[in-house]
Amino acid sequence: MLLALLILATAPSPDPARTLVGGALTDGLAHARLRELTDTIGPRLSGSPGAEAAVQWALKKFQQDGLAARLEPVKVPHWVRGPESGEILPSPSGVGHPLALTALGNGVGGNVTAEVVEARSLAEVAALGASARGKIVFFDHPMSTPDGYGKFVDLRTHGPSAAARVGAVAVLIRSLATASFRSPHTGMTSYDADAPKIPAAAVSTEDADLLHRLLQRGPVKARISLDCRMLPDADSSNVIGEVRGREKPEEVVLIGAHLDSWDLAQGANDDGAGVAMVMEAGRLIASLPQKPRRTLRVVLFMNEENGLAGGKAYAAAHREEIPRHVAALEADSGAGRPLVVRMRAGEGGVALLKPWLSALQSLEIGLEEGEAGGADLGPLGGQVPLVLVHPDGTHYFDIHHSAADTLDKIDPENLAKGAAAIAVVAWSLAEMPETLPRAPPREREKQAAPKPLAH
Ligand SMILES: [Zn+2]
Repeated sequence: MLLALLILATAPSPDPARTLVGGALTDGLAHARLRELTDTIGPRLSGSPGAEAAVQWALKKFQQDGLAARLEPVKVPHWVRGPESGEILPSPSGVGHPLALTALGNGVGGNVTAEVVEARSLAEVAALGASARGKIVFFDHPMSTPDGYGKFVDLRTHGPSAAARVGAVAVLIRSLATASFRSPHTGMTSYDADAPKIPAAAVSTEDADLLHRLLQRGPVKARISLDCRMLPDADSSNVIGEVRGREKPEEVVLIGAHLDSWDLAQGANDDGAGVAMVMEAGRLIASLPQKPRRTLRVVLFMNEENGLAGGKAYAAAHREEIPRHVAALEADSGAGRPLVVRMRAGEGGVALLKPWLSALQSLEIGLEEGEAGGADLGPLGGQVPLVLVHPDGTHYFDIHHSAADTLDKIDPENLAKGAAAIAVVAWSLAEMPETLPRAPPREREKQAAPKPLAH
C-alpha cells in the first residue's frame, strides 16, 4: 500500500499539452460543432437572423463547455442582397450570354445597361478618363495564386469609386479566386465620399475570360440588375468565453475567429472553421484539471467581413486592458493542414515559446518568426505579440466568399489538428512563467490606427 502511494506520488503528472493534443485528435468535437453551425444556422452575414442565431448558439456552447461566457455589444452594418442578374447582350458579331455574377458587399443596387470597357488596375481606370463615361468598367486582373489576393483586393475595395470618378455607371470585377466552376466570389467594397455610389458585382472567372475575349472582337454591351441595399446599422455582439487564470487572471491570452460569414454559403471555411477550432481549444483548456496561470479569452468577433465593427468594438471596450494582453491569435485562414506556428513578437520570443510546443512535434508543426495577425486583431494597435497557426492555404481562395464555401470542403482531420495546435499554443502562452517580449511598433502603426484589412 505504502509502495503504491509512493509510486503515485512520484509518477510524472500527464503533460497538459499532450492531453490537449490527444483530446483534439480523438473527440471529433470541432467538426461536430462546425457541422451544427453550418447546417443548422448557415450563412451569418452581420445584421442577419443567421448572425444573431450564431451569437446565441455560441454563447450557449461556451456555457456548456464550462467557460465564463458573455456578449459584448457591437453596432454592425446591415447590408442585404436581393435578386441579381446580368447578361452580355447579343451584338452584330455574336450571341448574348448570361453572366454568373454577384453583388459586392456593402454595394448599392441598380439597373444598368451600358457598353463595357476593360481596365487592369486603378491607374488604368483613372487613365481612361472621359472614355469611361456612361460605361461599365470591367476590372480584369491575373490573380491565379493565393498571394494574388493581397495584390488585387484593392480593385474590389476601391475600384467602384475609381470608376465612378471618371463617370462610369457600374463595375464588374473578375472574382478574386484561384478556382471557379462559374461561381462568382463576393467581398466587401468601400465607396469614397467624393464619388457617386455605383452598382458593383463580381463575375465568375469564366465569365471574365469570356468578356475579355469578346472585347477583343469589338464593342460589348451588358445589362446588370442588382437589388441589394444597406439598411440602418443593427445591434449585434462579439461572443466571449473565458477560462480565468489561476495566478495572474488579469493577464490575457486572446484566441479569436470571426463568427460572421458572407451570405452566399454556410461560411464553413471562412470562418466557421476558425470558430470551431478556437472553441474546441477553449473547451479543452477549460477541461484540464488545473487552470492555466493566466486568463484564456476566446473571442468570436462579429462583422469581420464587411466592416470590422467587432474588432474595433473589442479594442475600444478593452483599451485599458490591452497592455495586459500577453498574446493574441486569430484563426481566419481556413482549415487546411496546419503547417507551422508563426509569431511576431520582440526578440527572443521564439526561444521562449519553443520548448513549450514539443507536443506539436508529432503533428510536424514547428515554430518560426514571421507575419502573424488577423483582421480583427489590427485594432489592438500592433503592440500585442501575435501568433498564428498557419495552415496550407493552397485551396483557400478556390471557395472563399463564394457559394461553394460549404462543409464538404473541410477535412475533419486537418480541423482537429488545427484545434490541437491552437490549444497547445494558447495553453503554453497562458502557462509559461514569462510573457513574450513585445514587438517594437512599426512606423505605420505608430502614426495611426491600422487600416482595416478588406477581407
Ligand atoms: Zn475570414
